[in-house]
Amino acid sequence: MSSPDSPAAVVHGRKVPTGLYIDGGWRSAKTTFTVVDPAEDKPIAKVADATGEHALEALDAAARAQEDWAAWAPRARAELFHSAHRLLMERAEDFATVMTAESGKPLAESRGEFDLSAGFFRWYAEQIGHLHGTYAHGSPGGYRVVATHQPVGPCLLITPWNFPLLMSARKAGAGLAAGCTAVMKSAQETPLTGALFVQTLHDAGFPPGVVNLLHTTASAAISDAVLGDRGLRKISFTGSTGVGSHLLGKAAHNIVNSSMELGGDGPFVVLDDANVDLAVEQAVACKFRNAGQACVAANRIILHEAIADEFTLKFVAKVRELRVGNGFSDGVEVGPIISERQRDRVGELVAAFREQGGAILAGGNQVEGPGYFFEPTVVRMDTRNHALCGEELFAPLAVLYTVGSTREAVEFANDTDYGLAAYVFTRDLNRAVAVAEKLDFGMVGVNRGIMADPAAPFGGVKASGLGREGGHDGIYEFLEPKYLALTID
Ligand code: NAD
Repeated sequence: MSSPDSPAAVVHGRKVPTGLYIDGGWRSAKTTFTVVDPAEDKPIAKVADATGEHALEALDAAARAQEDWAAWAPRARAELFHSAHRLLMERAEDFATVMTAESGKPLAESRGEFDLSAGFFRWYAEQIGHLHGTYAHGSPGGYRVVATHQPVGPCLLITPWNFPLLMSARKAGAGLAAGCTAVMKSAQETPLTGALFVQTLHDAGFPPGVVNLLHTTASAAISDAVLGDRGLRKISFTGSTGVGSHLLGKAAHNIVNSSMELGGDGPFVVLDDANVDLAVEQAVACKFRNAGQACVAANRIILHEAIADEFTLKFVAKVRELRVGNGFSDGVEVGPIISERQRDRVGELVAAFREQGGAILAGGNQVEGPGYFFEPTVVRMDTRNHALCGEELFAPLAVLYTVGSTREAVEFANDTDYGLAAYVFTRDLNRAVAVAEKLDFGMVGVNRGIMADPAAPFGGVKASGLGREGGHDGIYEFLEPKYLALTID
């Protein structure tokens, strides 16, 4: 894949570049850091550790490539995207294997993430020829109003570890399709998936500088350097609300265009007329996918009292059946937590729920190693006035609450600083729409617990972020309107 002398590692039989990808080539760095398999607690690769200087070199390469890339004819750019998509598809198993090795998620989930990511990339490819402008007569006459769009310019794209390919393909796909160049920074825990992704873009023929990739143990040094440079025109960040807010503050200094996909506190509301079996099945998927480490995971399962007992019985039975283990083993449904520190945090959360009066209905314990496993856990809370309310759990920990009415369910659902994804289960479409419209969230799943789709605008309101990824909105995040006033004699 990469040239014979560029730094690489072999992970589960797959060759992966381990350098920094800058200006069309792989570079080593003075120091490296170790990538760990969370299912085995074992090192799997050493990757180059980027500094602020590397970041400025990458930004410089992106800035130099910007004008030519923006000038590519839409059809040529779309064809390049289609070639990259074909190459991605050929490498599906490389991606799935490496993702499971570094993030721990079960192989079936990695394959699902691959399919969705490739789908995003293809969807953007299909949109490249459909970016429209408008033409109108000026209000008083005598001139014309021509409005078009142009790429924002070089972007900094920062992604988290929980969906390493999806986040890279979704961000870079939109930005590159729009004609922007990019400096990507992957998460320290999962740099290898991003490396395979940019290697694929390289092999498809993306020109030098159009996309660059850094991984580092010094994230702040990278963002400080790049956000402090006037060559940067946009930051698109996915991660925690705390870091997003910090980066927005930095971006404010140079008035840098910003998109933020941040944390969530998703309410999963099951009303009295819901199909309980469907709600249980979707709640298990929505909560325990990726061992609960998802921004759109059900953070509070809110049950109408009429179905609470039935739901709880069936849900707890299903959770107890979930198979925990190494993501490469057949039949495993829940992999490890991403790191030892995060695994310990899950234990602390469970203890804190117990202290606040929570009843543990399933799980509750760490699984003895190797690896950072925690049992899928269910807690029932009889009060919602407790110290942990409003906290994003990001863990295989389902918390159940009971309410007496639809109105109470909506009030509780909205009682959070976050506004990313919410869910409502009912057999009555009129009620579903009425409730969905009242939920102060960017996305509402109706009788569905999983809803990412390339054509959909993914994103949140309030502390969950600014802007959208996916759909037409996702591409327009990387385009600026440009207005030409044309005098016609
Ligand atoms: P995080 O905020 O700690 O890290 C996210 C990324 O930011 C990583 O690449 C990290 O290295 C980088 N980072 C951290 N500090 C930085 C700095 N000062 N400058 C530049 N980069 C910096 O989040 P995490 O723990 O890796 O991910 C979990 C969080 O991400 C959760 O809150 C989750 O809800 C959120 N998330 C949101 C979405 C969404 O689309 N809304 C999707 C996935 C994850």
